[in-house]
Amino acid sequence: MDLIKNIKDIMIGDRSNTDVIREACQDLILDDKTLREIMSRFLCEIERGLKKKTHPQADIKCFVTYVQDLPNGKERGKFLALDLGGTNFRVLLIHLKGESDFEMQSKIYAIPQSIMLGSGTQLFDHIAECLANFIKEHKIHNERLPLGFTFSFPLKQLGLTKGYLIRWTKGFNCEGVVDHDVVELLEDALRRRGDVQIDVCAILNDTTGTLMSCAWKNHNCKIGAIVGTGSNACYVERVENCEMYDGDSKGKEHVLINTEWGAFGDNGALDFIRTEYDREIDEFSINKGKQLAEKMISGMYMGELVRLALVKFTKDGLLFGGQGSDLLFKRFQFFTKYVSEIESDKAGDYFNCYDVLEEIGILHATDEDCANVRFICECVSSRAAYLSSAGIAALINKMNDPSVTVGVDGSVYRFHPRFHDLMYSKIRELTNDHIKFDLMLSEDGSGRGAALVAAVASRQTHESDD
Ligand code: BGC
Ligand code: MG
Repeated sequence: MDLIKNIKDIMIGDRSNTDVIREACQDLILDDKTLREIMSRFLCEIERGLKKKTHPQADIKCFVTYVQDLPNGKERGKFLALDLGGTNFRVLLIHLKGESDFEMQSKIYAIPQSIMLGSGTQLFDHIAECLANFIKEHKIHNERLPLGFTFSFPLKQLGLTKGYLIRWTKGFNCEGVVDHDVVELLEDALRRRGDVQIDVCAILNDTTGTLMSCAWKNHNCKIGAIVGTGSNACYVERVENCEMYDGDSKGKEHVLINTEWGAFGDNGALDFIRTEYDREIDEFSINKGKQLAEKMISGMYMGELVRLALVKFTKDGLLFGGQGSDLLFKRFQFFTKYVSEIESDKAGDYFNCYDVLEEIGILHATDEDCANVRFICECVSSRAAYLSSAGIAALINKMNDPSVTVGVDGSVYRFHPRFHDLMYSKIRELTNDHIKFDLMLSEDGSGRGAALVAAVASRQTHESDD
């Protein structure tokens, strides 16, 4: 004990715990030079994803979505949507009534962990059952409504209604789904029941829904991004730049690309900034070596990153007088919402921070501890905001349009008190001066966006009918 104390004294000298913690957190702080380096690596991976020859090896796959028309505001009608892959599983009924006017009813259903990690058949039977119940409750079982399926995982699409799962992410790992067409799996499950008549008319990513939902009102929206349980972005690309596009473009110039930027870094491109906390998160995850950028950005991991740093500093005797608690030492017991709560305290006030610490069983924290806890939270959340900003800025610069609106959604973007501001100012710094951009919350992309994709798709069917 004495020996350890002496070593600590020698190492720390007369510096305060705060000094030592701040210095140790430098690894989590990304300066602009580093961010620009990340942007250039990111862009390089985007190009590799788009090109036929390099696509198989690329980390950022840039999947073609087959969504080629943005909404024109005239979309009308009733649609169903399924939303799988965010915080909750939802079934929605959306009625698009007029320019920016819509009604929506939805219900959240639990997906127990046994299903998230069970068989694909179980998962799709469960989804089909929820859909059947919803339709009965809303007395729409006699209407044959078009359905948009927001499935927020990497899909290789062969069309608007055909998408093969490439990998599970975010805590899902159902057997027998990877490499299968997810629309077919859903239709099979509905057929097994035999009591639901539904046309699945589009499968889409939540980023696509986010872009569409924002574009409904704002015709300048060309990027949709999510910083929630997972992280990703999609953007409008010129068909001529998409070598993987094999559709019949019929004079259409653009197509939405689902970048799947969460996988950035899987080939080592981010190793130069990854910290011991990132390596530990990955080590104990169910998808080791995969989704490395996502693990630095998204809400599924943010609280856990903070916890790992808190544990380290506690064990080093720099926090809480060296005394932790059972919950502090338990994986995933420091929730991402705690980070938002702690950073919502007014400067110099640690009201929420003391509450959170109490919740995890630490009753002996001091003001200095709280200041340090807050600093650690800020390092982790700013890094996430800056990494997503680097991705968005790189896309904005690549598109090089004079003005762009970016629609963003996700629990971290929504609920973290500084995320929007951090992103806004960083994107401003990292984009070319002549480009104007706007960053706005896109309401419920995975619900309303799904309806819009379904509506635009059925508009096309009607157009080619007549
Ligand atoms: C998925 C993406 C999704 C993102 C946000 C990631 O884990 O791979 O498809 O868009 O999470 O939900
Ligand atoms: Mg969602």
